[in-house]
Amino acid sequence: MIRYEGSLYRPPSEARSLILQATIGCSYNECTFCGMYRDKRFRVRPFEELSREIAWARDELGGEVRKVFLADGDALIAKASFLHAILDELREAFPNLRRVSCYASPQSMQVRSVEEMRELRDAGLTLYYLGIESGHDRVLEHLVKGVDAAEMIRVAGKATEAGVALSTMILLGAGGRELSSEHARESARVVNAIQPRFVSTLVMTPVEDTPLWEQDRRGEVDHLDPIELAAELRTFVADLELRGSVFRSNHASNYLALSGTLPKDKESLVRALDGVLAHPENAPFVPDWLRGL
Ligand code: SF4
Repeated sequence: MIRYEGSLYRPPSEARSLILQATIGCSYNECTFCGMYRDKRFRVRPFEELSREIAWARDELGGEVRKVFLADGDALIAKASFLHAILDELREAFPNLRRVSCYASPQSMQVRSVEEMRELRDAGLTLYYLGIESGHDRVLEHLVKGVDAAEMIRVAGKATEAGVALSTMILLGAGGRELSSEHARESARVVNAIQPRFVSTLVMTPVEDTPLWEQDRRGEVDHLDPIELAAELRTFVADLELRGSVFRSNHASNYLALSGTLPKDKESLVRALDGVLAHPENAPFVPDWLRGL
């Protein structure tokens, strides 16, 4: 059977995927808002354990497995030879496998060469989830993301050059009120430079046992209300110049669930947000108790 260690996290779009913990924790583990792996010490799991889990899933699920997500926080940091060995076993075990994906921290994308990314893509690892969070250097620094916007664009460009699709996340509210508009604009600028296949927004929410939680307790976090977040999202979407991307704000943290294909749906998304801002009393905001946090 498959043995999961600690809490397991995966993107919403991997809800039906087979999840394997190739690594435990996050090798970086410094982002102030992220509480996913605070209790875990990073390590790469022994290949033999994963091999046994793949064999178990093959016997139990076989042809049903179409997508595999490699957890935890940045499996891409593991050695390319280790990832190749997993991908080889996955392709052999699951005849209907269409895609393997993982979270990729900017740090793990600094480590992997374009050539390694390309070879891993050819072996099946075709999608990375990348938390950009913000395109604003001050916000990135405040979040202790470990890279600035220029470096984020550079490492994302390596994946694109290697033919790996990117699903990117932006953290609404991360700049507080003071930087809200600049955070939205700079984030759109960075996303435009990256041209990811998917872009989604989350709302920054303090999680227990994180530095952000402590900052919030000290009253240092300037929370945007749902209307201010809608205004920030409107600025972000209006500035997006994407040539073919799927946009979603369907993560549980969002107050507004929107989705569309860009550029086709950009105007209707902006109009929808203008409608929310003009008549917030009628806006379909998700109440806090339903936001699933
Ligand atoms: S790189 Fe990702 S998983 Fe690691 S601490 Fe930052 S947000 Fe969390």
